[in-house]
Amino acid sequence: MSAKTTALIALEEKYGAHNYHPLPVALTRGKGALVWDANGKKYFDFLSAYSALNQGHNHPKIVAAAKAQLARLTLTSRAFHNDKLGAFLKLLCETSGMERALPMNSGAEAVETAIKAMRLWGYRSKGVDQDRAEIIVCEGNFHGRTTTIVGFSSDEDSWNGFGPATPGFVKVPFGDADALKDAINANTVGFLFEPIQGEAGVIVPPPGYLKKARRLCSTYRVLMCADEIQTGLGRAGAMFACDLDGVKPDLFVLGKALSGGLYPVSALVGSDEVLGLFKPGTHGSTFGGNPLAAAVGEAALRVLLAEKLPARSARLGADFLKRLKTLKHPQIKEVRGRGLMMAVELNIPARPLVLDLMARGLLAKDTHENTVRLAPPLVITEAQLDQAFRILSAAIAALPQ
Ligand SMILES: *Cc1c(COP(=O)(O)O)cnc(C)c1O
Repeated sequence: MSAKTTALIALEEKYGAHNYHPLPVALTRGKGALVWDANGKKYFDFLSAYSALNQGHNHPKIVAAAKAQLARLTLTSRAFHNDKLGAFLKLLCETSGMERALPMNSGAEAVETAIKAMRLWGYRSKGVDQDRAEIIVCEGNFHGRTTTIVGFSSDEDSWNGFGPATPGFVKVPFGDADALKDAINANTVGFLFEPIQGEAGVIVPPPGYLKKARRLCSTYRVLMCADEIQTGLGRAGAMFACDLDGVKPDLFVLGKALSGGLYPVSALVGSDEVLGLFKPGTHGSTFGGNPLAAAVGEAALRVLLAEKLPARSARLGADFLKRLKTLKHPQIKEVRGRGLMMAVELNIPARPLVLDLMARGLLAKDTHENTVRLAPPLVITEAQLDQAFRILSAAIAALPQ
């Protein structure tokens, strides 16, 4: 490690809370699928900030929209209207085939908004008795880091030490439609799920699962709420991962790539029947839907559409996955994914592989001990993917037998 990198890392270590375990690299610049560290070394970014950078680092169109807006007006609060929010919400609703959207900032805030929306709908529309609403979630879920959300996590590092957990959540195994059916009762207001579990290690449910879940939710009047913060906006090879199964949920939770990585922008999107229940005073956020966020969000969506990034993700991802599956090594347990959301699961801890990949010029992150997630920006070129594949195959060949 260079002296520069060591000094940058030491500063963070000394003054920051240690709530992350980053790779020992300090980045200073990015462009498209590439980033550079403090010494000018170049890397392929195969994490994309957990899929916030689907449009690539510093996309010129999104940067231009941000700069123009920065020079005019950044924050009004929702106490006043502004000239940017409406157009963003319209494009967001048209892109998702929904009727209304509620803008927030972080993904966790949008999930909290979804939880509130489902409960409100349960009381006002389904007729559930006060304070009895139940929301079904999946084992292995990741929906963010607020106290309510970690309260229904099955990952011990996430929940242990942060109780008491908020009541009103029921966990079922992911991918098991019968378990979902058994968990539904008269108080069930929503089913909150990831169409592909990202943080759990890119877990793809069995074929037909989402269709069955859709049918159950419709039959028993339960809101189907897809957390597509990571899978959505092109990542899994469609605008929404639910599209891959021909399923339309009642609610989408979006974040991450909704700003292309420039700024925290998230939203809950859904029907008028649900989002229309919020009245003044029932929910809000000082920064949510501010003109800078709206300008950036609109530009980020326009880039996804104009550059057809969902289709690009499907094509490049299918090709890359096929090539990954040709890699033979006794320590490879499984290679899986959809679109440019892929993972290699090993029989051994993945951290050494990730460190070796870093040395070879590719940044990826280990998750759940043995898995490496591979998720480059969707704008990555075919030539860059060829180079990245060579790096991966060399690093995997160098693993202990
Ligand atoms: C990242 C993520 C979140 C949380 O988003 P933050 O912006 O970190 O709060 C929620 N759900 C899923 C599926 C995510 O991947």
